[in-house]
Amino acid sequence: MSPYSSCQRGCVIHLPNALRLSLYVGRHVEGVSHPFRPNMKLPRPAAFLLLLLALSAVASTAHDFDFFYFVQQWPGSYCDTRQSCCYPSTGKPASDFGIHGLWPNYNDGSYPANCDPDRPYDASEMSDLMGGMQANWPTLACPSGDGSSFWSHEWRKHGTCSESLLDQRSYFQAALDLKKQVDLLKVLQDAGIRPDGGFYSLRGIAGAVREAIGYTPGIQCNVDESGNRQLHQIYLCVDAWGKELIECPVFPRSKCSSRVEFPPF
Ligand code: AMP
Repeated sequence: MSPYSSCQRGCVIHLPNALRLSLYVGRHVEGVSHPFRPNMKLPRPAAFLLLLLALSAVASTAHDFDFFYFVQQWPGSYCDTRQSCCYPSTGKPASDFGIHGLWPNYNDGSYPANCDPDRPYDASEMSDLMGGMQANWPTLACPSGDGSSFWSHEWRKHGTCSESLLDQRSYFQAALDLKKQVDLLKVLQDAGIRPDGGFYSLRGIAGAVREAIGYTPGIQCNVDESGNRQLHQIYLCVDAWGKELIECPVFPRSKCSSRVEFPPF
C-alpha cells in the first residue's frame, strides 16, 4: 500500500507503528513535504518549531474525515422492496431498528471509501462482540448468512476510513454503544409513531427524534412494491471519535414524501 492512501481530500501519512503520526498534508499542515529523518540535525529554533507543528497536528487533526453518519435501518422497509430479504442464519431479528453502518463523512457531503485494502475484516478481533452484533446489526441480505459478509463489507468500505482513530474492534464497539445510546423505536413509539403499516408525517418523525435526543435526524425512504414511500433509514451525526451526537453538518439525499409508511416487521 502506498503510504499516502486516503488522498481524496488531504492525505494521511501512514508511518510504521512505532511512529504512527497522522498528519494532514495540504489541508491542516501546509507544506510538510520533507520526510522526517530521526537523526537529522536541526538548529534549535527550527527543531522546536517542527516539534510544535507535529504536536499540534497530532493533537488537533489526527483524523482524515469530519464526522460519522450513524445509520439505522427499519428491517420491515428493507424487506418490503422488490429485492426482498432473508433472515440471518441465527434467526429472525427483533422488531427494532438495526444498525446499517457508521460512515465517515466530509462536511461537504462527500465521503471516503475503501481506504485500506491491507486491513481486511478480522472476525477474531470481535469474538466477544458477536452477541451484540447479531442482535443489533443483523444482516438481511439473501442468501441467509451469519452477518460476517455484511460487517466485512461495512468495515472494508467505511471502517477502514476511520482507522486513524478507531481500530476494527473500537469501530464496531462504537456503533454498538451508539445504538444503546439512542433507542429510536422507543422515541418514535413514545410519540405515537408505530410500525403498524400506517402513514406518518415526515416532519412528525423528524420532530419526535429531535425532541427526544436534541438533534435533527436525516431520513431516507424506500419504495415498496405498491409504490408507497416507506421510512427506511434514520441518520444521526456523530463526532469523529464515534462518541457524541452532533448536529448534522449536511444531510443525506432523501426520496421521502410528506407522509411515509411505517410498515410492520
Ligand atoms: P453501503 O455500501 O455501506 O452504503 O451499504 C449498501 C449495501 O449494504 C448494499 O449492498 C445493501 O444491499 C447492503 N445492505 C443494506 N442493509 C443491509 C442489511 N440489513 N443486511 C445486509 N446487507 C445490507
